[in-house]
Amino acid sequence: MRKSLVRTVAGKGIQDARVLNALEQVPRHFFFEKAFLEQAYQDKAFPIGEGQTISQPYTVAYQTELLDLQPHHKVLEIGTGSGYQCSILLQITPHVYTIEYNEVLFHKAQRQLQVMGLQAHTFLGDGSEGLPQHAPYDRIIVTAGAPIIPKNLLTQLTIGGKLVIPVGDTGVQKMLRLTREGQEEFTREEFANFKFVPLLGKQGWK
Ligand code: SAM
Repeated sequence: MRKSLVRTVAGKGIQDARVLNALEQVPRHFFFEKAFLEQAYQDKAFPIGEGQTISQPYTVAYQTELLDLQPHHKVLEIGTGSGYQCSILLQITPHVYTIEYNEVLFHKAQRQLQVMGLQAHTFLGDGSEGLPQHAPYDRIIVTAGAPIIPKNLLTQLTIGGKLVIPVGDTGVQKMLRLTREGQEEFTREEFANFKFVPLLGKQGWK
């Protein structure tokens, strides 16, 4: 089923071998309640409780491909959710930091990662301002829809670092990639439209 999911995602245009391999390695059904196991390998988002979702595999692959993540990179994920995207990142680099705002989901994801023997640095808190105590990061990925590009995320990037973030209103967001070219210089690229649950917190939808 995982192989078939990889074929589906590759058929939609994902080419990065590291990303496709990661998708093939991670058992997505581990992040689902038993009653919903059949949904685990469909290319769809799915409710994980607390009004939140596990992102669609294509979206996970799309964002991970845009990150251009390398094995030596230190990456920050904002919005741990189920822990699935975090597990995908861990297939590519061991240096994964992830922060979740919702306490119930935070504990659940932490347990799940432990059960799978995966080691990420997990944090509970408002990731809309990043995670300054462990900055800088080579890569930052935001997995919730933001109203603006939070400045703190930009300043927590290394020079050459990249931020992948969906930005827009609550109905639709454009995927953006910001690259830090110098201390104050950033380039901005725009990609496809997506619909994420809202980023909450100080720099989010409050
Ligand atoms: N990456 C997740 C996964 O693989 O399951 C899916 C993320 S879900 C689409 C968005 C997540 O962002 C939710 O779990 C939500 O609680 C979290 N979130 C929203 N605002 C946040 C914030 N300010 N800081 C950290 N997490 C936040």
